[in-house]
Amino acid sequence: MLKEISLGLGAALLVFGLAVGYDITPFILLLAFGGSLYYLVNAKGMVKSSFGKGTGIPKRQEISFEEIGGQDSAIKELKEALDFIKNHNEIRELGIRPLKGIIMTGPPGTGKTLMARAAASYTDAVFVSASGSDFVEMYAGVGAQRVRKIFQTARESAIKQKKKTAIIFIDEIEVLATKRGQNSSHMEYDQTLNALLVEMDGIKVDDNVRLLIMAATNRVDMMDPALLRPGRFDRQVKVDLPDKKGRLEILKLHTRNKPLSKSVDLVQVSKETFGFSGAHLESLANEAAILAMREELKEIEHRHFHEAVDKVIMGEKLDRRPNPEELKRVAIHETGHALLSELARPGSVSALTVTSRGGALGYMRQNPEDDTYLYTQEYLENQIAVMLAGAVAEEVVYGNRSTGASNDYEKALHTAKTMIKAGMSRLGVVSLDDLPGDLKHTVVSEILREQEQRVLDYIMSHREFLSATMDVLLEKEKISGEEFRRLLQTQNAA
Ligand code: ATP
Repeated sequence: MLKEISLGLGAALLVFGLAVGYDITPFILLLAFGGSLYYLVNAKGMVKSSFGKGTGIPKRQEISFEEIGGQDSAIKELKEALDFIKNHNEIRELGIRPLKGIIMTGPPGTGKTLMARAAASYTDAVFVSASGSDFVEMYAGVGAQRVRKIFQTARESAIKQKKKTAIIFIDEIEVLATKRGQNSSHMEYDQTLNALLVEMDGIKVDDNVRLLIMAATNRVDMMDPALLRPGRFDRQVKVDLPDKKGRLEILKLHTRNKPLSKSVDLVQVSKETFGFSGAHLESLANEAAILAMREELKEIEHRHFHEAVDKVIMGEKLDRRPNPEELKRVAIHETGHALLSELARPGSVSALTVTSRGGALGYMRQNPEDDTYLYTQEYLENQIAVMLAGAVAEEVVYGNRSTGASNDYEKALHTAKTMIKAGMSRLGVVSLDDLPGDLKHTVVSEILREQEQRVLDYIMSHREFLSATMDVLLEKEKISGEEFRRLLQTQNAA
């Protein structure tokens, strides 16, 4: 605003000078000089701000540990480490060296960034964040310069905000901290990593701003050991996928501000979402709300959560509609999966659909068991049978298979290899990596063949059921597990 007024005033003065007969050339020269100076300063500012891009813009949104669900042990461990920072004076008196770095490891979306932000609130620190990729540049020395800059920004921001502590959070640290000498443009990476080591070594117990570096990665194995040695990132906090209780906590957190109908059973949703991260659960709650909104409802129903699970796992419904013949084949394929699923674990089919979603033309969803971390041989064999059943059903009805099963085969092959690794094959306890390729191939094939034969026998005895269910599925597009079981009972009784 001030700029516009001054420009207007200047122009008016010039016109006035010209009108009363002044020689305005010196003014014009002066203006040109001032203008270029202004441009130069601004351009420099632009360079500065793009240089500082992503590195060091303090985030103000405060978040507390109470807003992070399902990570009780990680939070406890982290708080213990942070108490070192909070009880700074005692630490200095006892001559304990300052805690410089905490590294959080775990799968994506489990709340590592949230934990770092909560750590900043807990210690009343300034929070400065960047991602490993912000430090990666083609030009030698730029990454290292950015490392120095983020440390400087953290110190300056803390002084400006009159805080004693600053937390620098570096997400995806593996990008800049891979073992030295491994990158193709290794000189640049090595310089960046060296700069980080130098800055961390420079942190002293009596600095007027205490710095703590928090980093997140899901590839701790790739990290340069120099970074993990005592005195640098010497605390590791594991941030794992949440278990059932954790998922329930996270769901509660993310539905706090959403109107839920009485039908919503979050315990059931938490059971159905084995393997979901916090980010998945947040997205699930959001998608359920969007589905309710599309139906112009004021409250979210349980079925919205049920459908949102499909969406989060498989992706958005697609308009792509296979031709009628393909659709029949998809229905047969999915019914095959469902048949074997019920045989292996009665009551396990949750829903069956021929709606295209994400990369799939249809899918069969299973009711989850309790969170399972150990699998028996029988369980794995049943898994393989369920995976193969789609293709076998196609073969029984059409006499041939289609490409629709390639994803199933991949999973079946993976499971067969897991069985060999776990000593469940005829080879006994062996190392999968040391097995000669053709022997591995033979044993994997044997495992698959055995299950394929079992599936074939079962599906052959349910041929009519396949066709009958296909008709129902094509008509309704989606049938629930209960409906499927009812159809199966009627067939078995006949
Ligand atoms: P990445 O490794 O991909 O960077 P991250 O582990 O840092 O992921 P966050 O960025 O912290 O994950 O989480 C992403 C979003 O997921 C959060 O903004 C939040 O909405 C939700 N979320 C993740 N974990 C949790 C959790 N434990 N409690 C509540 N919300 C969570």
